[in-house]
Amino acid sequence: MDDALRKTLHRDTLAVREAVDRSPYGENSEALYLTSGYVQSSAESSARRFAGDEEGFTYGRYGNPTVTSFERRLAALEGSEAAMGTASGMSAILLMCLGLLKAGDHVVCSQSMFGSTIKLIGSDLAKFGVESSFVPQTDVGAWKAALRPTTRLLFAETPTNPLTEVCDIQALADLAHNAGALLCVDNCFATPALQRPMDFGADIVMHSGTKYLDGQGRVMAGALCASQALVTEKFLPIMKSAGMTLAPFNAWVMLKGLETLDIRLRAQSANALALGRWLEAHPAVARVHNPGLPSHPQHALAMKQQSGIGGAVLSFDVKASNPEQARQRAFHVLDSLRVLSLSTNLGDTKTLCAHPASTSHGRLTEAQRQAAGIGQGLIRVAVGLEHINDMQADLSRGLDTLP
Ligand SMILES: *Cc1c(COP(=O)(O)O)cnc(C)c1O
Repeated sequence: MDDALRKTLHRDTLAVREAVDRSPYGENSEALYLTSGYVQSSAESSARRFAGDEEGFTYGRYGNPTVTSFERRLAALEGSEAAMGTASGMSAILLMCLGLLKAGDHVVCSQSMFGSTIKLIGSDLAKFGVESSFVPQTDVGAWKAALRPTTRLLFAETPTNPLTEVCDIQALADLAHNAGALLCVDNCFATPALQRPMDFGADIVMHSGTKYLDGQGRVMAGALCASQALVTEKFLPIMKSAGMTLAPFNAWVMLKGLETLDIRLRAQSANALALGRWLEAHPAVARVHNPGLPSHPQHALAMKQQSGIGGAVLSFDVKASNPEQARQRAFHVLDSLRVLSLSTNLGDTKTLCAHPASTSHGRLTEAQRQAAGIGQGLIRVAVGLEHINDMQADLSRGLDTLP
């Protein structure tokens, strides 16, 4: 497909069409190139490719055509110039930090970021002299107050896990740019089907492909979307030396996943909204969190940023009079499930239910959890594609028989 034609095509079309050229065999489904090395036509051409003066594949750590197809398709959906696939979501964050930061540089993150992100930036990179501040997700003033002359990166995640807090991407992009820093948004929960952070000024979009990009809970993967300059000058050199390489098979699984991303996110989000409304009316439930619900504190902002859709993840608090009873009741609801899965992953077509206080947020102290609003009665539901009545019936098993 030539570039002139590609520019006229809509995102829905690119989601199923954007890829490297077909092989001479004319396959309709994109080829899976399982190879770690590439045969070179001449020593001269090989030298030029290693020097970066000629396009072409040389070695699996430096690139693979199936991975390139995934990168081009994801970039088309996010509206970025380029993208780089990685072995996991966490390795995408590591790649970004190694590419952009040095000792003495400062990062501002939301305190509601994914737990491993807080550990990686707040502790692991601190060993190498990278400084960080963690601020309340929705308080733009707190982000601003945390800026230092050495701030190079603002890193937000919206909506967050598990409370689905939404931050104002445009406001954070303006803050970052006025301070001479970049804004990265972890777009795992909304995906480009609902939210394209670059439309609001973000410089980098980070993904855990493990979640909705795969969409059926099969592979670990990640990606960074950014300008061609950032990808070529900052990320590719680190990929070449550090090797957090995306496996071709996992890239191929995500290529197929991206073809149905839009319809999955819309259908799963509609299920989540219906389940959220039902839970809000249930007498055993204290509170429900999903940006699609009018009761959500950032509902209006979320509707503006997320194509009018709340996303497929919700969480809810079981009513209880103390933390011990709350934990016992949440466990009862989870242990009563017979159809939905008790699993801490998300982004699957199968609905996954989890207890954040004892799993993803289990390493925090009770005080830290209380500050983050993650109580013992909180249950997260990553809503899938089962029939809504079956989801309600499965959650009712526990909610209607609380100890
Ligand atoms: C899962 C997840 C990650 C980490 O991705 P992995 O693929 O598990 O390494 C980062 N951010 C968010 C929001 C996630 O849900």
